[in-house]
Amino acid sequence: MIVAMQEKATEEQIDAVIDAMVEAGVGVHRTTGATQTILAGVGPTASVDLSKFEVLPGVLHVHRISSPYKLAGRGFRPEGTVVEFANGVKVGQERVIVMAGPCSIENSEQVFETAKRVKAAGGTFLRGGAFKPRSSPYAFQGMGIPGLKLLHEAARENGLLAVSEVMEIAQIEPMLPYVDLFQVGARNMQNFNLLRELGQVRKPVLLKRGIAATIEELLLSAEYILSGGNYDVILCERGIRTYETSTRNTMDISAIPVVKKLSHLPIVGDPSHGTGRRDMVAPMARAAVAAGADAILVEVHPNADKAASDAAQTLYLEQFEELMGQLRVIAAAVGRTI
Ligand code: PEP
Ligand code: MN
Repeated sequence: MIVAMQEKATEEQIDAVIDAMVEAGVGVHRTTGATQTILAGVGPTASVDLSKFEVLPGVLHVHRISSPYKLAGRGFRPEGTVVEFANGVKVGQERVIVMAGPCSIENSEQVFETAKRVKAAGGTFLRGGAFKPRSSPYAFQGMGIPGLKLLHEAARENGLLAVSEVMEIAQIEPMLPYVDLFQVGARNMQNFNLLRELGQVRKPVLLKRGIAATIEELLLSAEYILSGGNYDVILCERGIRTYETSTRNTMDISAIPVVKKLSHLPIVGDPSHGTGRRDMVAPMARAAVAAGADAILVEVHPNADKAASDAAQTLYLEQFEELMGQLRVIAAAVGRTI
């Protein structure tokens, strides 16, 4: 259930409504917007008499949520979520944020060179996998924590934030000092134990859509994190598996406006995994920005062809720089900046 408070509702009135919800056996999640406070009630709300809440002082309206996700739905935060990072960077506002870096962290030179160029081109996050979910057990599995240390150092030295993938619960704690944003990969979108644990962490999470997941399933996975009290979740469209074989995945650009409509969470477009082909990354990145993505996640590498993973979809730094110029034009056309 959603209880929307009046703009002028006092803290005492809000507290009284929360108390009444708790008394009715409902778990309460509060969001305090710029103009309005919303209280989402989760749990056994079907048997709760809503009219009891409608008459409480300060309440604007009360309604049941028909969608299976309660906290990820737009109704919880109609104005949209803005995820703020330590250095003041915000995802979910007018500025489209660019996250770029290699698929995998390989060595110091690769990461530092990439970081410098990503920053100079206008990027905000340095990406790089240290724990890699590879289709083959014989493929490069990532550098682990030493790789994350490099990522973190290169990011900080260049005034960037660091994003990297977490594959299991045991990695959360050791990763905490080195990442600003935990990435949950497509393969782990329904690793519910991992999602629950990330709900307890007070660091933002980038949740990628699974290769065969519907948007509803993506939002339900986000719900696992939100229901633990971590509201800083950013979603990511990275292509889904279809019958089409011309591209590695089919990038579902329409997922961007669909998510915007259904959810308050920011959405990122990943044209690298979305296409799997270097020559198609730029067009799909442009399309994602045009469609309203709050950020773009792109794989770049100083020697793209020789990348230890995902070489075929990785941009050379020069290509990334050119793309940034194009994205600025597109962003302006849809009322945003980069
Ligand atoms: C990645 O970002 O390198 C990655 C493995 O992504 P995905 O989980 O979308 O395949
Ligand atoms: Mn990759």
